[in-house]
Amino acid sequence: MTIINLDNAIITGGSGMVGNNILFGKKPSSIELNITNKTQVNEYFEKYKNVSCIIHLVALNLRDSENDPIKAINININGTINMLNIAKKLNIPFIFLSSGAVFSSFNSNMKFCENTEPSPNCIYGSTKYTAENIALTYDKTILIRTGWLFGGNQKSHFKFVEQTYNNMINDNKAICCNDFYGSTTYVVDLINKMKELISNNMYGIHHVVNDGISTGADVGELIASLLHKSSTLIDKRTFHDVPNSGPKRSSTEVIITNNSFNRLRDWQSALTEYISLLQTRHSINTVSIKNIEKYWMKRNRCRLCNSVNINIFYNLEPTPPANHFVNEPINQEKIPLDIAMCYECKHIQLMQILEPAFLYSHYFYVSSTSIGMTKHLKDSVINFTKLLDLNKIANILEIGANDGVCIKELLDNGFENVLGIDPASNIHSRHNLPIICDFFGSNSKKLIQDKYKNFKLIYAFHCLAHIEDIQDVFKTIYELLENDGVFIMEVGYFYEVFRTKQFDVIYHEHIDYHTCTAMDRFAKSNSLYLFNVIENNIQGGSIQFYFSKNKDVEINQSIDIAIRKESRIELFNNNILSKWKLSIETICLDMNYIINSFVNSGRKIAAYGASAKSTTFLHQLKISSHIIKYIVDDNIYKQNLYSPGLNIPIKSADELSLNKVDYIIILSCNFTDEILTRLDIYRKAGLRIIIPFPEIKII
Ligand SMILES: [Zn+2]
Repeated sequence: MTIINLDNAIITGGSGMVGNNILFGKKPSSIELNITNKTQVNEYFEKYKNVSCIIHLVALNLRDSENDPIKAINININGTINMLNIAKKLNIPFIFLSSGAVFSSFNSNMKFCENTEPSPNCIYGSTKYTAENIALTYDKTILIRTGWLFGGNQKSHFKFVEQTYNNMINDNKAICCNDFYGSTTYVVDLINKMKELISNNMYGIHHVVNDGISTGADVGELIASLLHKSSTLIDKRTFHDVPNSGPKRSSTEVIITNNSFNRLRDWQSALTEYISLLQTRHSINTVSIKNIEKYWMKRNRCRLCNSVNINIFYNLEPTPPANHFVNEPINQEKIPLDIAMCYECKHIQLMQILEPAFLYSHYFYVSSTSIGMTKHLKDSVINFTKLLDLNKIANILEIGANDGVCIKELLDNGFENVLGIDPASNIHSRHNLPIICDFFGSNSKKLIQDKYKNFKLIYAFHCLAHIEDIQDVFKTIYELLENDGVFIMEVGYFYEVFRTKQFDVIYHEHIDYHTCTAMDRFAKSNSLYLFNVIENNIQGGSIQFYFSKNKDVEINQSIDIAIRKESRIELFNNNILSKWKLSIETICLDMNYIINSFVNSGRKIAAYGASAKSTTFLHQLKISSHIIKYIVDDNIYKQNLYSPGLNIPIKSADELSLNKVDYIIILSCNFTDEILTRLDIYRKAGLRIIIPFPEIKII
């Protein structure tokens, strides 16, 4: 028997639901390894010696295959041939993932076992069946057919089970199909069995599914009962009446196994385990955080170009998620905060990635609480429409619409076809606005296109630095834009962060720190063309990137100017980045010295601005509630909570009269002017203000 070292496996489709849950092997991106390009495939494998096996997971999904059969043939068949040829050449096992969609029958009692002759009745099933036959020409192929998978790790893998769960916990109805039977299967169980099959050299066809038969309605009913919800929340429909259900190809995709080695536990046990995991994640926002390792991971690749050639130049003090304000003082666990630069594409990024559902289900930042920000958003969005000369019926999409300030502004200005998308479910003020509650990406594309097929303008303010799968976001934007459409994103500009040493913008929600150099290159790899950049001083220095789908778009000289500016201060030089870190450590030491000397002489200190940045700032200074009495914040959602990790109480400005202090440290330096105006009355009564940036000032 051949011993297979799984660490030397090459896995295609590593970012999909199955691939993402596989914790071994190399997972090249589709840019590093384009399986449909034979030359590139060969070149890729030239670089890697000792490959132990190929796990081939890439496929165009059922719905997309139906819409684009040529693409389905190219990916599902030609891609498989290219990968199979490599396995043959290297004489290593070829693991090919297929599905129950290769079978069809309108007799709903039908079940398909390993030796049933396939009978595909859709493009996807047909291409997979052809690929299966080709794969089986090799004697070291392990062909695994599986069922309806659930249990993704990332939001982009969230499908029927997760959507049903989300609907139920919010007491919304869930549409469930009751006349299509299948084999509901937990992705974790599938992978464990796959490992066993590989380790035991079990070549040939294997059906790997959780035991038992179910319809979507059965799955919905089990979820309802596990959540103690009424089964009346399940809206049972026939296949024809379920939106976006794809082609009616069969009444059953139930697969069973003849091989006792392949049998898994029943789907009910697996689903119960997974729902309990989702519940733990959901409740983690309001209760003490235990076993936090499950909710974050450390990347080892660049988010933009997938290179492993990365330099971590600053390990900041670990913090809890910066916006996890809590109801009572608790001991929150802290997550490392490491910032790095990619040597290949120069992108600056955070290495720790937190589960988005964990980060954002209770999101506190409401943009309209800041007057300056609200004005900026309203002005910018109207400017975009003027700049692009949009008419009132142009389709416009906002990603990360928050409480709907921009959407409302556009509607008030007569724009009729406006849509927003935002995942936070607890911002009530936007309820009457056209905003979809979801994460933006390929997963929500259909929902968006149910409203408008394409857009003239897509824009996003200060949210794209938060999204883990940025490659998927750009791909989806490309697909949603009209041919002459424009995408505009405003994000913090790392050039300014660097120049003004604002290290407190580094926290777990901000996974990207943008520069023109890295974005220009990344956009091109997604067939979008950066044609203009405009800087402003919002949030301590921001930049608007303008992208066009048109390759021949006229490029403004602002791009060249920004790129030259970045190279002039040697932003991407390791020694310079190390010096930057040292200078920040000096700022922290100075601040500590000042604060401690005030406290030691009996002065009382408060702070202003319970922003996410304050979490980073206070942790780097290792400040506690013994030193800072309270933090004033104008956001009513935050008042009377406690700061993440340090448990400093958050109060309204009234506290300054009730519980007097001598000094107040401004923690939201980008709003310093606004805060100074608000504090005017207290300053007249003797309050002194400590401003930490850009240099420490006491006024
Ligand atoms: Zn990179």
